[in-house]
Amino acid sequence: MSNDIEVSVRSSNAYSLAVEAIRLMEVHGVWPTPLNYEIWLYVAGDPNSALAQEIHRLIGSGEKITEEISESLASKFISRLKLNDEVRDAGLRLTRELASVSEVISEAQKAQKDYNETLEGARSSIDGDSDAQRLRQLVGRLTDATSQILNQHAHFEVRLSESSREVARLRKHLDQVRLEAMTDALTNLANRKSFDEALERHCDSDEGKNITLAVLDIDHFKRFNDTWGHQTGDQVLRYVASVLSRIGRAPRMAARYGGEEFAMIFPSENMAVVERLLNEARQEIASRVLKRRSTNEDLGTITISVGIAERDYGEDAYDLLDRADKALYQSKNNGRNMVTCAKSALKATDAA
Ligand code: GH3
Ligand code: MG
Ligand code: MG
Repeated sequence: MSNDIEVSVRSSNAYSLAVEAIRLMEVHGVWPTPLNYEIWLYVAGDPNSALAQEIHRLIGSGEKITEEISESLASKFISRLKLNDEVRDAGLRLTRELASVSEVISEAQKAQKDYNETLEGARSSIDGDSDAQRLRQLVGRLTDATSQILNQHAHFEVRLSESSREVARLRKHLDQVRLEAMTDALTNLANRKSFDEALERHCDSDEGKNITLAVLDIDHFKRFNDTWGHQTGDQVLRYVASVLSRIGRAPRMAARYGGEEFAMIFPSENMAVVERLLNEARQEIASRVLKRRSTNEDLGTITISVGIAERDYGEDAYDLLDRADKALYQSKNNGRNMVTCAKSALKATDAA
């Protein structure tokens, strides 16, 4: 996406894209600040992107796009784009470093070849007439060539160790960038991309593996935001995330799936165990009276609804997630603040 927009803003339709971004801001009553312009340029440039979808979802649910929301959207979506630039940049620097290593190697090979030619030349001189004077000259030339190649080797060693230090530094930086790309910036939990990958991995690795999946959603969170503001809402998201991350330590996984939704993987626990754990978490969250940090103001309580599904034999990630989602909707429909366990799709089919 970032590449596309980079290309688009330098292409023949660049100005119509800019006009569209400004038109959209005007339609939705958004000030044309530099940050908003960047956000809406992405929306105009790729109406199907995750950022555009999130904005349309917010607008569709009657949310006004305030500066706070714009900042939260930018930190959620645009920082990811900047991360991509960082990955590309670190990749380029690695390529450059590797090119300089191969240059050092070919220089070393050439120096070795020159040295071999000197030795070869000396051998043919010895084969001819070899009085003492000529031998002395020969030994002198060989000594010079040997000390030259030793110097060169020392120089190559320094350059190679500099290069390997730089490669190690870049690798560490890339690891860090990779970690950031897999992490949700607001809550520090794994993000949706890394969750989806982990779930696929678990479901692909072994047909018979029993994993249990949970999806969680904060109840009436729009109402909470409308009452207390988006920033306070963000603090609540962090609080819920902290409870889930405590339960979701490796090899389990807790992720922010999007907005006010979370998802967890329990790779080796059955539904009964997960149901108990999440009921405890649900009760803990529901019983905590939230306070605004700055003023100590009482914000009341929040609750979460949960859906759980244990993987059927051979079930793929999509179907498993679908069953957990349906169980979550049951929790919502039955009054919220509850955990619902999905029935096995196999048993349902058998019974039919
Ligand atoms: P339900 O109980 O049915 O889940 O109701 P709800 O209000 O929680 O659900 P709905 O999907 O209508 O609204 C979700 C709200 O979550 C809308 C938005 O204000 C809020 N939200 C989504 N992402 C964020 C975020 O990053 N920060 C904050 N503060 N709020 C968010
Ligand atoms: Mg939701
Ligand atoms: Mg909700």
